[in-house]
Amino acid sequence: MSEVEPYLSEEQKRLRALARDFAREEIAPLTTRMEEAGTHVDRIIPALLAKQGWTGVLIPQEPYRGMGAGHVAKMLLIQELSYWSGTAGAILQASLIPALALQVLGSPEQRAQWLPQIAAGLWTTIAVTEPDAGSDILGMTSVAVPQSDGSWVLNGHKCFIGNSHIAGLHLVVVRTDKPGSRDKRGLSAFLVEADRDGVTLRLSNHVGLRGFSAGMLLLDNVRVPAANLLGAEGQGMAAAYGASVVCGRPNLAAVALGLHQRLFDDTVRFVTTRPRRGGHLSDNPVVRNRVAEIHHELITSELAVYHASALLDRSVPCDTALLHAKLTAKRAAEAAAQQAADLFGGYATRTDYPFARLDRDIRHIAAPAGPDDIQLHHLGKATLSGERNQWSQLFSAPSTTQATSVA
Ligand SMILES: Cc1cc2nc3c(=O)[nH]c(=O)nc-3n(C[C@H](O)[C@H](O)[C@H](O)COP(=O)(O)OP(=O)(O)OC[C@H]3O[C@@H](n4cnc5c(N)ncnc54)[C@H](O)[C@@H]3O)c2cc1C
Repeated sequence: MSEVEPYLSEEQKRLRALARDFAREEIAPLTTRMEEAGTHVDRIIPALLAKQGWTGVLIPQEPYRGMGAGHVAKMLLIQELSYWSGTAGAILQASLIPALALQVLGSPEQRAQWLPQIAAGLWTTIAVTEPDAGSDILGMTSVAVPQSDGSWVLNGHKCFIGNSHIAGLHLVVVRTDKPGSRDKRGLSAFLVEADRDGVTLRLSNHVGLRGFSAGMLLLDNVRVPAANLLGAEGQGMAAAYGASVVCGRPNLAAVALGLHQRLFDDTVRFVTTRPRRGGHLSDNPVVRNRVAEIHHELITSELAVYHASALLDRSVPCDTALLHAKLTAKRAAEAAAQQAADLFGGYATRTDYPFARLDRDIRHIAAPAGPDDIQLHHLGKATLSGERNQWSQLFSAPSTTQATSVA
């Protein structure tokens, strides 16, 4: 039984059961085909997920026709999908980040235009990372220049953009003050439709999460109207960093948790059925201890992840808990993969066992929404300097009026 079982509402349990059945019946049969296809863009899973309406899990029912189910519900969906396919979990999670940024920072007109479409299955991206300025957001060089008619012209190069090739809308963060500036108020966010002139995509090769597109987005003199500026000029940091803390960190933690749970279940099945000296591998105390380590990591991860999400649903400021959740879940899944690799012996290397896929997919959790060193950097600041950027306060209670001073 899950450690968080006693804390879930009946509605959340029903949603989890639905997601579990859906993932086992609809998604699991697709994994072998996706593995064999190598790097490619899967369009079947996005279509199946869109039909469920889960792209609108955080979007209010009224007036935007979303689910309005909250952060814990969102985590349950991502975890259940990731149990059978890290790719499916990654696809869903990547589009929830820009959707939340739009919900919180968008003008009433932007929300009215886009949120019902997203809830109905329009895929979106958040495009922040650049080749020479990964986690150093302020070092980005992509720009938007205002034109005399009020429109903006965007130029630049974004990379590792989750859902790049299936999205109909990109939320792009660029610099709107002078080139070379590192002022956080000089970043702004724009809504860029995928079919705008000057938008080009390139697929990158990744070792895992096969079928998930995390490609490059090239902006070559892309002109967007003034109405596509998200919120106010200078709010780019809230979209780039705030949405990553509040939605990206926990989302990636939920992917890690789903992969970890699957690793645990497979390992238990393996060691309790593999014959050894008239019994099974699991009779050996060393083997039992290793399984216990995987379980211990799983419990620790689950508690950290759902604690942070439950705080968000209660609008309790929790930036530190969110950073901690991602760090914990990612480290726990990696440690579990190492233990499982030893227990599976030679079978860890076989492509007809899911271990190799799980192990590769777990490696993809490290960088998105910030590598370990970045979480530690911010946790260190919170611990030693008392710094508390409470993005969670702004993002957990989406307003119906436009957010103002958030940069
Ligand atoms: C599967 C996947 C999906 C992704 N999805 C998206 C997406 O949807 N949108 C998007 O914009 N980006 C996305 N990313 C990009 C991701 O956010 C970046 O990879 C991440 O921010 C790190 O940037 P980088 O890879 O350039 O590493 P760098 O920033 O170059 O860092 C490399 C290493 O240097 C060290 N380091 C760097 N800075 C510091 C510091 N301040 N303190 C201590 N150590 C430091 C750390 O060890 C770090 O791991 C995705 C990446 C992957 C792999």
